[in-house]
Amino acid sequence: MVRQYTRKRISPRCTINVDLRKAFDSVSWTFLSQVLHGRSYDVLPRGPSIRSHLDGMALGVSGRSGLAVNTSKSSIFTARIENNILCDILARTEFTRGEMPVRYLGIPLAAQRLSVRDYSPLVDQIANSISRWAAKSLSFAGRLELIRSVIQGVECFLLQIFPLPAAVVEKIHRLCRNFLWNSKRAPVAWENICHPKNEGGLGIRHTQTWNVALLARVLWNIHRKANTLWVQWIGAVYLKGGSVWDWQPKKGDSPLLQRLAEIRNKIIAAFGSPEAAIEHMAEWSSSKGLDTSKVYEYFRPKRAKQPWQTVIWKAFIPPKYSFILWLGLQGRLSTRDRLMFLQEDSSCSLCINTQETAKHLFFECPFSNLVWANIRQWLGIHRRMSTLLSAVKWLIKEKARSSMQNKARLIALACKVYSLWRHRNEVIFEGKTPCPKGLAISIRITVYRILLTLFPQGLITS
Ligand SMILES: [Zn+2]
Repeated sequence: MVRQYTRKRISPRCTINVDLRKAFDSVSWTFLSQVLHGRSYDVLPRGPSIRSHLDGMALGVSGRSGLAVNTSKSSIFTARIENNILCDILARTEFTRGEMPVRYLGIPLAAQRLSVRDYSPLVDQIANSISRWAAKSLSFAGRLELIRSVIQGVECFLLQIFPLPAAVVEKIHRLCRNFLWNSKRAPVAWENICHPKNEGGLGIRHTQTWNVALLARVLWNIHRKANTLWVQWIGAVYLKGGSVWDWQPKKGDSPLLQRLAEIRNKIIAAFGSPEAAIEHMAEWSSSKGLDTSKVYEYFRPKRAKQPWQTVIWKAFIPPKYSFILWLGLQGRLSTRDRLMFLQEDSSCSLCINTQETAKHLFFECPFSNLVWANIRQWLGIHRRMSTLLSAVKWLIKEKARSSMQNKARLIALACKVYSLWRHRNEVIFEGKTPCPKGLAISIRITVYRILLTLFPQGLITS
């Protein structure tokens, strides 16, 4: 709204940013509704008569809204208003004079394309909140949940207003990635975790596609002439009553408008014509507007569905077990064969005979065979397994006698992978002595404990 205020050839005008103290029990909702729909204060006369209108404005707002105006946080942006009038207005309202460029959450709402540096308040804010969380004391599942809240919370809110440049998205991702893996080396690429769990990801949203989905909703609101002040203003000032589907933004228009036009073109290209695009978007929407999750689902990058990927994240498997199993299934656990570049000893720390690979560690190593044989005998698994993938697939396909046994087998496999990996780390990094019997017993106790919470009656009677 105040983009053109720095221009020399412009008629006298002003915009007031009123900060209201929160007092929900005293709000006059009729008044707020009037303001939001632009029925009350949308048009102020220009020139010196502004003064008389603003006179007692603070009083007027607080009187009608039931809210108190926070004068120290309210500001006035003016263009070509004479100095003595401006001083008078500021003195009467006690508002401060707004400084250009206008900032929102620290980011300048500039006319030109924003540089990566302009987004540093946002990036710093995310970095600060991440640094407050102690990465080491949180489990992977806890860290994943916090990352989700950053990506889906802070970003989701900002992505509706700011079209994020790719370099800023990359900065945010790097922060989240380092926190998630608790290291600068990520075993799985960020794009790969931005898939639903049944496609092998961790269910984190793909930021750029989510940005597209949120801005598509803005576009749809403009198309359906939603009853908000902003949409009506866009309609009157930029579209001049025309359609958003054939509107062309001008060179100096804001980055948001430029990006909206890009997204509109992307949607048209996806469906072949503006008419087809409107038809599809109508299918994705209700009276409340466009359903962003449907837009996201349509445009997000996709991979083939793998049913076993969903199974490993079942609620009855502790997330830290699921996570190690997930890494193992993708061949992403840092076994010694994958760290050859460090030129360190690559032999298995449990049997010291062979090179440590995931296949060896979990299925071929004499040490882990002792552990696994013990568990297999306990749960009646007769099949010999040779890889994590074949083991999971077999457990899904081969139904046991009861649902309890099915669950027990799956928990046992996840627990075995997790415990073996942990045991191996303790042997390498803490100098522990490998103990297959002790490990097998601790796995059995853990599986039994989880089963007891799932089937408190079943375990007693059977
Ligand atoms: Zn071994």
